[in-house]
Amino acid sequence: MVAQIIDGKLFSKKLRKQVSEHVNVLKTENNITPGLAVVLVGEDPASQVYVRSKGKQTIEVGMNSYEYKLSEDTTEADLLELINRLNVNNDVHGILVQLPLPGHINADVVINSIDPEKDVDGFHISNVGLLATGQKSMVPCTPLGCLLMLKNFHGSLTGMDAVIIGRSNIVGKPMAQLLLNESCTVTITHSRTKQLEEAVRCADIVVAAVGRAEMVKASWIKPGATLIDVGINRVKASDGSTRLVGDAEFSSCSEVAGAITPVPGGVGPMTIACLLANTLVACCRKYGLEDPDIIPN
Ligand code: NDP
Repeated sequence: MVAQIIDGKLFSKKLRKQVSEHVNVLKTENNITPGLAVVLVGEDPASQVYVRSKGKQTIEVGMNSYEYKLSEDTTEADLLELINRLNVNNDVHGILVQLPLPGHINADVVINSIDPEKDVDGFHISNVGLLATGQKSMVPCTPLGCLLMLKNFHGSLTGMDAVIIGRSNIVGKPMAQLLLNESCTVTITHSRTKQLEEAVRCADIVVAAVGRAEMVKASWIKPGATLIDVGINRVKASDGSTRLVGDAEFSSCSEVAGAITPVPGGVGPMTIACLLANTLVACCRKYGLEDPDIIPN
């Protein structure tokens, strides 16, 4: 079997186009421009790249982008003060604080200080609770991107066996909630799971969110299963150059799986597209407008 490639790059392009069309309507018919504020504390190079990319794509879909770059030694109090200002700023509909934060800042306190209605990352405890109880919430961008790709590929996910590798608050746990809400039978695995490979081999859907380069092997995959690879791992090649790989061994897994997301070009681009979609949703909700229907075909 040779897996179908689930092209996140192409899919995210369609999603961004739809977001952009909705933004245009908001601007022309309602005189509203959605705004996204991104806060970066410190000099982490990967975070700087993400923040630049988010800002660029925010502008490309016609939204306002507000970037706040704070020094590594910013105090928690100063960061909270900025968030309070953004919470009451009517031009800002979405707030994202780039993680990880420097060690002296408590990320939970910071995230929970964001107005839940502007929490476009979906990490605020209120949004976590709403998602867990199947209510309307802000859904974390990476799992949302995975879900959109899965639904686009399969249609209904009802009754499918899904195994998630990883239990982080950012990916693994919300992914499990989303798949549960789609009536999948969900197993969450982690570093203490016994017989991980056997668990994965039972899955119709595998979501790998581990952060270990090419850990998932072809022999773990049930023939025909769908493999969503969230991992982003930078590995050094023998010639000294670096390349990005996922948490699954792409070349061998794609010979067994029915469908697979590549790294790069799979989940990554969907994450930013979903951030823009969430900002649009937050903006519409603020003005009592219906949530836009933004699942591309
Ligand atoms: P975390 O480090 O927060 O979580 C990793 C999870 O993997 C943990 O639950 C951990 O288990 C589990 N794990 C670690 N080792 C093993 C193992 N040997 N067997 C089974 N489970 C294991 O990572 P994130 O969830 O934040 O991210 C995961 C990956 O996804 C990373 O590569 C990250 O870069 C990428 N990522 C990609 C995004 C994108 O936009 N494409 C967005 C966010 C993340 P335990 O809890 O027991 O420690």
